[in-house]
Amino acid sequence: MKIVVIGTGYVGLITGTCFAESGNDVICVDVDSEKIRKLNLGQIPIYEPGLDELIVRNVEAKRLRFTTEPKDAIPQAQCVFLSVGTPQRDDGSADLAVFWSAVDSIAPHLSHDAIVVVKSTVPVGTNAAVARRLQDLLGRPVHVASNPEFLKEGCALEDFMKPDRVVVGVTRPEVAQVLRELYQPFLRTEHPFLVMNLESSEMTKYVANCMLATKISFINEMANVCEQVGADINHVRKGIGHDQRIGFAFLFPGVGYGGSCFPKDVRAMIRVAEQSGIEPHILEAVDAVNVAQKEVLFQKVHKHFGGELKGRTIAIWGLAFKPRTDDIREAPSLILIDRLLAAGATVRVHDPVAMENVRKIYGDRLTYCQTPYDTLDGAEVLAIVTEWNEFRNPDFGVIREKLKSPVIFDGRNLFDPMRMTQLGFHYSGIGLESKTDAKDGAGSKTT
Ligand code: NAD
Repeated sequence: MKIVVIGTGYVGLITGTCFAESGNDVICVDVDSEKIRKLNLGQIPIYEPGLDELIVRNVEAKRLRFTTEPKDAIPQAQCVFLSVGTPQRDDGSADLAVFWSAVDSIAPHLSHDAIVVVKSTVPVGTNAAVARRLQDLLGRPVHVASNPEFLKEGCALEDFMKPDRVVVGVTRPEVAQVLRELYQPFLRTEHPFLVMNLESSEMTKYVANCMLATKISFINEMANVCEQVGADINHVRKGIGHDQRIGFAFLFPGVGYGGSCFPKDVRAMIRVAEQSGIEPHILEAVDAVNVAQKEVLFQKVHKHFGGELKGRTIAIWGLAFKPRTDDIREAPSLILIDRLLAAGATVRVHDPVAMENVRKIYGDRLTYCQTPYDTLDGAEVLAIVTEWNEFRNPDFGVIREKLKSPVIFDGRNLFDPMRMTQLGFHYSGIGLESKTDAKDGAGSKTT
């Protein structure tokens, strides 16, 4: 099948590459000429495990091409996927300016039987509005389908190639049939292809993200209570997770959710609910808990030093909003860095892949370290923000030796608190009994 993907970001690049991998003829279009120039030179603009190899293979096989020109790509296409960004406006609602400009850019080039497939996350009612707009522009009806994307950055290829389910919203069954054929190679393990109306499909994406965000804010709130009452959230997690009605998935306490989806999608859903006359009590709370949770690590460090951070040096491990991606959109690390810099601290950071994106924001206001251990040189305490695998089993002897005081604030509960105490660390996780509250302000090196 001939396919065009409009928007070559985290979703579009994966979508185009995976469809090419299953034998389709794919052209990816982006307005960012620098991105397209790099892709045409074989340089991959994002970090996603395994993606570079797959792109090279499909480009060499001439199944995957990149261009800035919709008119060169679209006239032959049977399916035109829209996967441009849909960020949030100041009021939290979805900003569709870029999306509508992409719709307008493809309109004049669409063939008669082309299907416009909306993969961008868009508020309910948008797909129907796309159909109306294309009809107005072209003077004829155009097939429009909603096909929300559920991939997770960091394991996006696996998610796309082996989806739990594929959701499509359509107004005509023959459109669903075309998409069913397209996705068939990825559904060989009997995972469902779910067909519904446009509105249900649009809602499915938001409801999924809102549910996941709710689980995170719920466990974070419970963790904060545990910490105050002498309970351990790790034990409580196990205590509840074995109840099959609850389970373990997505109930890890931490420093709040970030990324390009949960924060904006929860807020967009809040606006949609309000516009529908429904008061979104739960989602308002989910968002508020998350905003507060992103401050927790800073508050712990601040308290440890008795509020005196000026002249202190803090090491940070992990900048990406989650492991296995270089995406730092709405990352909790940015809040911690902002607060530490504003308080006059010196900040030394390491992340396996996200440092260049962070450097674009902070420039030389941070010290970027090639290894996690380099961050510890001259640092008084260590804060862990992202749970990269390589942080899970570090050389604690080196950490103790290098840190001025053996204090770790762990925003992801990577280590066993008892073991950390035995190793001589003051260790503070999320929702654990705190062992780091400084009695006299700054912590001191203990043996
Ligand atoms: P992104 O910002 O990484 O990529 C968007 C791309 O679209 C950019 O490269 C931009 O240059 C390009 N673009 C903008 N206007 C264009 C136009 N008129 N023509 C062609 N290209 C244009 O965004 P993303 O993270 O890939 O997200 C895309 C959509 O998918 C969003 O709606 C998002 O909510 C949704 N989504 C994202 C994820 C994720 O993990 N990132 C997962 C599921 C769904």
